[in-house]
Amino acid sequence: MTQWYYEYLDQIANLEFKKKPTQQGGTRLRYQAARQAHGDAPLCGQIAQALEQAISRPDSTVVLVTGTGNPVWLPKGETDGPPGVALLCRVFGALGVRSCVLTEAPFEDGVRRSVEAAGSPVLEPGAWQQRSNAAKVLAYPTGAEAGQRFVDAFLGQHTNIAAVFFIEKPGPNAHGIFHNSTGKPKAPDWVAHAHQLADAARARGILTVAVGDGGNEIGFGRLRSFLEATHPYGRDCGCPCKGGILNATDVDYMLPASVSNWGAYAIAAALCIALRRLDLMPEWDAAEAAIHGALAGGAFDGYTGLAVPSVDDVSLDGNHAIFTLVREVLQMARLTA
Ligand SMILES: [Zn+2]
Repeated sequence: MTQWYYEYLDQIANLEFKKKPTQQGGTRLRYQAARQAHGDAPLCGQIAQALEQAISRPDSTVVLVTGTGNPVWLPKGETDGPPGVALLCRVFGALGVRSCVLTEAPFEDGVRRSVEAAGSPVLEPGAWQQRSNAAKVLAYPTGAEAGQRFVDAFLGQHTNIAAVFFIEKPGPNAHGIFHNSTGKPKAPDWVAHAHQLADAARARGILTVAVGDGGNEIGFGRLRSFLEATHPYGRDCGCPCKGGILNATDVDYMLPASVSNWGAYAIAAALCIALRRLDLMPEWDAAEAAIHGALAGGAFDGYTGLAVPSVDDVSLDGNHAIFTLVREVLQMARLTA
């Protein structure tokens, strides 16, 4: 029975609303690849079960990496990513698990405001460490060399990491080149090389979970072999690297979604179901506030570049509808528990 609730949540996160012909139909291909790669069972359920185990150790911390943009269209980031992270932080806080959110300095404001708007206190490291339900936001340096130094220091200082999430976080292809979703290469010194953190976490046996909605985000390495032939930019990005846009970073679980925030909502709900703590899922007002919070911190809609409270060009009403469906599944689980 529970398997079906996870199935519904996966489906809700993968309801596609895309206006551009080049994007239409892609959500299904990415999700099908994920099912092939993960043994044909719903992804959010597999993730929730792995998380249940990982956070059972006392004094746990989860790390959530997010943030994407570019200097012209999205100088302070976008509304997809941080609100999903904000919702997960809220659920982890309620479970007595600390959240550490990592993002590039230009996106920090939007991320911090989003996390706080959804209800998690964002504290300085000293206070954060003394509480089990707070969040902190740290700047992830850009560039490969600074990134590797950061990862080594970070993992040295944080010893109780239960899981590392990558939510809508760009990663490089097999040639090490970062691209946007339409194949344009990104300047390597403007982006965090967060795939280094994924590799280091996996080497230490830490659970890694990713959510993405394009193919260029961290985690698609897990699905690459299933997607190369069908993704429009799977083999050829159109740029001189000729490597395609598909990310090459491996993670334990990769949940593709139509909009990455929705994948985060699905994981949060699945975790509530797995733990039989259905009361922990926040109401829409928290998720809505998280979108407004990102906007107040300077983030724009990632598709239109406009300072409006939409996400990937889906209106606030559309996001509300998705969130209502997620809560409907929890309501069904409550009635049949
Ligand atoms: Zn390229």
